[in-house]
Amino acid sequence: MNRKVTIIGAGSVGASIAYTAVVKGVASEIVLIDINKDKTLGEAMDIRQGIPFCTPCDIYAGDYADAVGSDIVVITSGIPRKPGQSRIDLTQTNVNIIKDIAQKIVPYAKDALYVIVSNPVDIMTYVFTKVSGIPEERVIGSGTLLDTSRLRSSLADHLAVSQKSIHAYVLGEHGDSSFVPWSIAQVGCVNLLDYKNKFSCKDQKDFDFDKQEIETYMKKSGGTIIQRKGATFYAIAISVCHLLECIFSQSNTSMTVSSMMHGEYGIEDVCLSIPFIVGPDGICGKILPDLTEEEIAKLHNSANMLKSVIAQIEIWFNLNLILIVGNKIKMANIFDWFNIEKAE
Ligand code: NAD
Repeated sequence: MNRKVTIIGAGSVGASIAYTAVVKGVASEIVLIDINKDKTLGEAMDIRQGIPFCTPCDIYAGDYADAVGSDIVVITSGIPRKPGQSRIDLTQTNVNIIKDIAQKIVPYAKDALYVIVSNPVDIMTYVFTKVSGIPEERVIGSGTLLDTSRLRSSLADHLAVSQKSIHAYVLGEHGDSSFVPWSIAQVGCVNLLDYKNKFSCKDQKDFDFDKQEIETYMKKSGGTIIQRKGATFYAIAISVCHLLECIFSQSNTSMTVSSMMHGEYGIEDVCLSIPFIVGPDGICGKILPDLTEEEIAKLHNSANMLKSVIAQIEIWFNLNLILIVGNKIKMANIFDWFNIEKAE
């Protein structure tokens, strides 16, 4: 079956996603695109030489035109923070990159699903959704997918139970304001916080754990890994490949990814993570669990943090066109050029 994936950004994250996708047999064709051509050629060559021992996959370094026919485009390009640069300056730099990439990739892959991984991922997802002209359900930010995986891995260690039996989530921003809604966290069919009382086993284990400690571990582990090895890329690569597998398997799957909010919990016009249903055509539903008042306040805090960043960045510069239609002047996004009615 033909499954074509284009990965933009062949750095640590992009190359690891390509490698993981090949090892797991997720795609039949992978195009790697990066401004650093030599690195892209080297990464594609290195992975390609292992393919005789994997499911066949045609992986190569390409250009935007090679993305034609892609089912999924994954965006991982980014610039690390320079000394003295503020987070907002870095955000604006990466926003400018994703706007530039949107204009280059969309003409070749307008029917693809887009998976945004570049940080700050919720802002990048918002900007790409706004400027690309791609229907918003086809733009999926990796959001707190990785954080949820980190949380489950830590809980599984503490509870000595398979990660697959843990149904706990990280919601909100992929960043400092993310949080765990413990009221909906479950092990098997019981609430996680009540698990100790509901569990019966010959080899009774000690389940005591500190919620705050687990949450701090989840939030700080990205920073810890960066401190120890310079960057994080394996767990995000596995998480993104899981997302790709779910999309290709055509089974609607609940996962915490980032997408546009439309009034859910009183939040709108911002991308953040709640449990969305991801299907073959992208986001096809939202699950709105009963959160406590405190948890809803934390979700609002995340939304407000993200909105304050959005308010400080320039999204539309260079993308708006002034259209003169009849005797009216209209502003339209460049991608709406061919669809003037939409711009009214
Ligand atoms: P990296 O520096 O190793 O790679 C980034 C790549 O992007 C480089 O190869 C660079 O040449 C390329 N690039 C820059 N501008 C480009 C452009 N205009 N067009 C095409 N390619 C361009 O960084 P990395 O470690 O691979 O991280 C990539 C991004 O992923 C960062 O933003 C990082 O913060 C993010 N990340 C996200 C998560 C998550 O959970 N969402 C986790 C880890 C990393």
